[in-house]
Amino acid sequence: MSEDVSQNRIFQLDDHIANLIAAGEVVERPASVVKELVENSIDAAANNITVYLEDGGKELIKVVDNGCGMTRDDAVTCLQRHATSKISSAEDLEAIATLGFRGEALPSIASVSYFNLTTKTEWTNEATELVVEGGTITDLRMVGAPQGTTISVGRIFFNTPARLKFLKSSQTELSHISDIIGQFAIAYPHISFKLIHNDRDVLTSPGTSQRINSIVQVLGKDTAKNLVPINYTQGLVAVEGFIGNPTLTRNHRRDQVFFVNGRPIRSRTITHALDMAYRGLLQPARFPVAVILINIEPELVDVNVHPTKAEVKFSSENEIHSVVHRAANQALMAGAAAPTIGAVDQPPVQILSNQPSNPYPTQQKLEIPDEESLKQFSDALAQRRAQVISSEPGPDPFVWGQGTGVPMEESPVTEANFDTARTVALTGVRVIGQAKNMYIVAVCDDGILILDQHVAHERVIYDSLIKRSTDQSADIQGMLLPATISFSARESAILSQRLDDVRKIGYDLEEFGQNTYLLRGSPAGLKPEVAESVLKEIVTELLETSIARHLVVRRDQVLITASCKMAVKAGEPMAMPEMSKLVEDLLKCENPFVCPHGRPIVVSLSNWELARKFHRA
Ligand code: ADP
Ligand code: MG
Repeated sequence: MSEDVSQNRIFQLDDHIANLIAAGEVVERPASVVKELVENSIDAAANNITVYLEDGGKELIKVVDNGCGMTRDDAVTCLQRHATSKISSAEDLEAIATLGFRGEALPSIASVSYFNLTTKTEWTNEATELVVEGGTITDLRMVGAPQGTTISVGRIFFNTPARLKFLKSSQTELSHISDIIGQFAIAYPHISFKLIHNDRDVLTSPGTSQRINSIVQVLGKDTAKNLVPINYTQGLVAVEGFIGNPTLTRNHRRDQVFFVNGRPIRSRTITHALDMAYRGLLQPARFPVAVILINIEPELVDVNVHPTKAEVKFSSENEIHSVVHRAANQALMAGAAAPTIGAVDQPPVQILSNQPSNPYPTQQKLEIPDEESLKQFSDALAQRRAQVISSEPGPDPFVWGQGTGVPMEESPVTEANFDTARTVALTGVRVIGQAKNMYIVAVCDDGILILDQHVAHERVIYDSLIKRSTDQSADIQGMLLPATISFSARESAILSQRLDDVRKIGYDLEEFGQNTYLLRGSPAGLKPEVAESVLKEIVTELLETSIARHLVVRRDQVLITASCKMAVKAGEPMAMPEMSKLVEDLLKCENPFVCPHGRPIVVSLSNWELARKFHRA
């Protein structure tokens, strides 16, 4: 029986529809267009890339580069589906060294916009201009233009109303675009990027090749100041970049940017490795700032796993995890930093000022060290095994990381203005006394220190709890008479969940009837008379945390809460020997500068600063 051809239902789609479908994947919003165009400019070896936008890119996106440009024929070919100059064989897919490779972006973008391409190579006198409307080439002419490529994308999605509807406000679209340009600016410090929206400059990167300079432009000076460099190589994987010291945190992860071979990506592996490195250093729901660039043999990473190339697949995710974790750990150790008292480069205090409430004038200079001096700086510190206290201007000397809210005066970046004279090593520390029943005042070889007694104690207890819970041997002091303690149903539920951890802290506790527990011993070092109330406080806080964050409380949280509750409080007088012991214990901690909640422990005033302030220098 012969087949009835009229019953066939499968047809090959024509190129136009194929492009529209591809556009559905690649071109989600103006930011995706910007990403593809800028990637092309980078692949074309441009060192100057300017992006002009109108109305968040909805009306116009124009990308101008000074890259290699295209010949007339290539300009026409680049609009064909799967036309690319970047790979030519299946083997090439195994080791992609460019940002693009699929040959899909330009035809897709051109199919959903009013598209204009002007391009010129160094070998011709004239440039080619191509005009495309909704995927159809309507004009091709020779024009005058400098070397490079300019692509304008007007009225994106004008012919796909369903897509158009999903575009957000200009502000939202702009912020997505500026995130992307910011990422590229950080990844490619030798390229000068410029983002202009409705004729106003939004972002400019200097193209100086110093990554820290781009970071200053993208993340701001205050953030850049609190970054420590990371640099680590293990086998075939090299990690570089900057991570925030533990007082520089966000309530979101948007300021964590990762790159693999220059490609901005998202990665759970990297995110997790970072979280591990900061464990115990941050408050709950706070996230570090991080710029992490991974360089790896292209063969060891598959970049062809995501429609917009926003994710990659490593041949060994474990390896990446371990390298990033180590890199971050090492950097945090080398760069552990604490704030100093007051600003360094501030005008002398004005005695006649009638604004006594703010002794720290606002015209302060901030120094941003360049990459090289940052490295030297951290090397020098590692050598001295010094924990560093870097200068930190601010209106309130005791609140670290708080900006003044006042525009900062530009200051040139030189090595000289980031000298180690401003760092304080914690050697020769001697306690002098207590201030306001809150602070321990001490001297050290390099200057004067003020420690927050509560957070200092918290750090000491936390470290010892961590140590004990891994050695399995909690120091318990037995009680003569066991006490019965009752809890609410919810408290009791959370306590029974975390009973093992609470025992590891040193509470010898067992369940004893409904919502009641029997306490036979309490943590050594904790005054027995407060053992019970501290336990109650711990449980209450664990309950609050679990409610507030809809979370099962983790062991870490138990330890952090316990250290906070067991620590000496602000307002409690302390005797000299007690303070000396505390400081001595603190100096043995891995990170004596930041408490487990992420608060600073020590502020300092270096000899150098004192000399400056008293005009001795
Ligand atoms: P891909 O980047 O995956 O190759 P595209 O559709 O983005 O695919 O670009 C197609 C081709 O057009 C590229 O391979 C490149 O040869 C050329 N091209 C695109 N943009 C530029 C540019 N700004 N400068 C020079 N050549 C470009
Ligand atoms: Mg491309």
